[in-house]
Amino acid sequence: MTCPMCRLENPPSALACDCGYSFAGRGEDQSIHYLRSIAESVNSIRRMVLFWIVVTLIGAVVWGFIIAMENARDNELRRQPEKATDTRPK
Ligand SMILES: [Zn+2]
Repeated sequence: MTCPMCRLENPPSALACDCGYSFAGRGEDQSIHYLRSIAESVNSIRRMVLFWIVVTLIGAVVWGFIIAMENARDNELRRQPEKATDTRPK
């Protein structure tokens, strides 16, 4: 670990730096690493969520387009028999 006081690299097992800084208060350093890892995972989750939102939106647009096309086709198919019944003699 790096000493926050003198920037000297110490072995992880060191309890105190050569400059006298005690790593007993290294819990603060670990919490910073912990927060950093949380921030990184949150960022990756955010990226995943954004990816899925984009995929879902694209899927919804494509699906909506397909449904709209099928509805238009159905309407055309429905109109034709209607016309046929209109022309049919009563
Ligand atoms: Zn030091």
